[in-house]
Amino acid sequence: MKTRYEKIIADIREKSRLISHPVTFMELCGTHSQTVAQYGIKNILPENIRLVTGPGCPVCVTDQRDIDSAIGLALQGIPLATYGDMLKIPGSSANLEKARTKGADITIVYDVTEALELKRQKPNLVFFGIGFETTAPMSAWAIKKGLTLYSAHKRFFPAMEALIKNKKLKIDGFIDPGHVSAITGTGIYEKLSVPQVIAGFEAMDVLKSISMLLDQIIRHERKVQNEYDRIVQKKGNAKAQRIIKEVFETADASWRGLGKIKCSGLKIRKKYKDQDAEYVYRTLLKKIRRKMTIKPTACKCDEILQGLREPQSCPLFSKTCSPESPHGPCMVSIEGTCNISYKYGKIR
Ligand code: SF4
Repeated sequence: MKTRYEKIIADIREKSRLISHPVTFMELCGTHSQTVAQYGIKNILPENIRLVTGPGCPVCVTDQRDIDSAIGLALQGIPLATYGDMLKIPGSSANLEKARTKGADITIVYDVTEALELKRQKPNLVFFGIGFETTAPMSAWAIKKGLTLYSAHKRFFPAMEALIKNKKLKIDGFIDPGHVSAITGTGIYEKLSVPQVIAGFEAMDVLKSISMLLDQIIRHERKVQNEYDRIVQKKGNAKAQRIIKEVFETADASWRGLGKIKCSGLKIRKKYKDQDAEYVYRTLLKKIRRKMTIKPTACKCDEILQGLREPQSCPLFSKTCSPESPHGPCMVSIEGTCNISYKYGKIR
């Protein structure tokens, strides 16, 4: 008797035979990338079905300018707190870890509550906040409690719109991010005319979502389906949406790899300007940014984040670039495509 995995793989193969052209799907969440690599899902897909990884790792898409600004603030004596992965993310010429060796006061925290605690000892502490709709509500809550934040928070949907418009890419369907969708709900995706399935994080969830996307391709449909309905609701998490809206407003933001995307950033509202590092340190940041220069690098993360390249095609992959000595953000974070490929080996 066939196992449920054998059945779903057979189902995918059967459906793929009904499609006469190559099909590319993109998964958009670092946790999906891990599941795909851990269970070798790319390797079991039929030849005409390609699954690529998009910009779902929030650490990886943080722009060099934001890293350089955070380094600049820290080197000017502003105590900084942020997530551990952020320390190794390269700016234009250094990272926060190097700034620490030069005497910058940078503390690793696991969440904003730790940063709030730390603020009692260091009143001018700045929290370097990153992430999508998943982490933004907690940052908003901490701002309301008095935490000062440098916001590199982003909205995910505008990046999907940018990917669809990118002429170098031809995406036939998205596996939408499960965590982000739990906050935003499913409605937001309906604006995009492309097959989409919101998926959970088990191997079976991802396989089912591929099968559902294939159904849409076969039927020439372009709709949003929710495979992860045990968690994701149509309207999302209203409380989280409310606090994001109360504290942040949308603004254009720069993404590593994707460039500037309209309305994709979360900027702190004027009402909370005294907790906004952009406002509090505006003169200092202006000075820091005037000196910034973007240096060319051999790292291919820009293309990897757009699904245009696999890590193994980067000449530095596993030679000079490894998780111990990362050259680019995609090798730093455990949700980064290069880090995942390094850990789980070659995937097609
Ligand atoms: S292997 Fe390293 S250098 Fe190459 S793209 Fe990935 S992170 Fe960048």
